[in-house]
Amino acid sequence: MMNKMGQETEKFFLILSAKHWDEKRPGLNEFMKRLMKDKGMSRANELVRSEMRRGEGAITENGLIQFLSGGYLCKTVDEKPGGFTIFMFRPVHSQGAYNPRLVEQSIREMFGDNKLSDEVVKFYAKGNFFLPMTFPDFMIQLETCYRTLELFTSRKGIASKGYRLAHRLIQEQAVRYRPLFLSDPTLGIKIGRFLDNVFQNFCLDFSEFIFERDPIRSARRRLEYRFEDQVQSFFNGIRNGVVPSILLPESLTPNSSITGLTDDSGNHHGPPGKKAQGKGKGKPEGNPEVMPAWRVPPGKRFGDFFSPGRGDLKANVVGWPSFPHHVAKTERPMCLRFQVTGECTANCPNSHILPSAMPTKTWATVRERLTKIVSGDS
Ligand SMILES: [Zn+2]
Repeated sequence: MMNKMGQETEKFFLILSAKHWDEKRPGLNEFMKRLMKDKGMSRANELVRSEMRRGEGAITENGLIQFLSGGYLCKTVDEKPGGFTIFMFRPVHSQGAYNPRLVEQSIREMFGDNKLSDEVVKFYAKGNFFLPMTFPDFMIQLETCYRTLELFTSRKGIASKGYRLAHRLIQEQAVRYRPLFLSDPTLGIKIGRFLDNVFQNFCLDFSEFIFERDPIRSARRRLEYRFEDQVQSFFNGIRNGVVPSILLPESLTPNSSITGLTDDSGNHHGPPGKKAQGKGKGKPEGNPEVMPAWRVPPGKRFGDFFSPGRGDLKANVVGWPSFPHHVAKTERPMCLRFQVTGECTANCPNSHILPSAMPTKTWATVRERLTKIVSGDS
């Protein structure tokens, strides 16, 4: 298998295997030697599976193939995962991961229909990337990720430090994280993406040293604590109440709770509702119960708070609960405009639900998040 990789990729496998920063010539561990020597991908897959069988998670077959043929580095991390990524691990219990059709379905459920292009959904489904939607699923994914990385490199070695630390920090604060996952089902994807980014940057910087005589020691000064420091400060932030503003990969950023009139943060200064009619977007529909606490304050516009086109506001438009649509009756993301401006249009694809019709718990979560956003301390 080794001969299918470039020389750089191959060298990088060796270096990343180091257990300590003062190692001179780290070699592949016994498991990796077997894995690399072996003939086919299906055998490789068997080897990894059998080694990881005691855990609650597994690597996806496509993920393993991608990794073994291309190595750790991902050239497309801003758009979609690749190389070594947390998203190629999944809980064993998630049967759907074997079935692209089911995976497609769960991706669509998570982001709402028509939000992601078919192409993107198919990419994730085919690549068997697993997008965790619950706290337990995410923890299994994260644990499987660092344990497999250690299987490929070395236990508690330099490569896995960040993922391992993240797992420990979240575990210790499980009481804090569980509710956060309930109010934002994409939190696992955001944290996963952050960790992938940090790991990819680490690998990228590290790879600059591979042709030096003593690559690990040369890289030490720059890289020894970086991975862990970045992880630690990210989680300190959450601990202090900062909501991570990690952006999802471009391909996974849905406009979920904004559709139709979408982005009015731009150059429109007319009264709200006017352009809607001008564009033939349907009859206005009022929300008689609009809550004062989460109403957009006078002088401000909807787009000042919710705008998928503005990097700093992108996070505000995703992760809202879904409700049965007011016409179609199928589950759709809650319409933000209807909630915070008190008006939208009848043919809006998102759900117009009166606050009083929401289940109490959901209502409380929505209230807390919306109030925070419109009062400006998000
Ligand atoms: Zn609407």
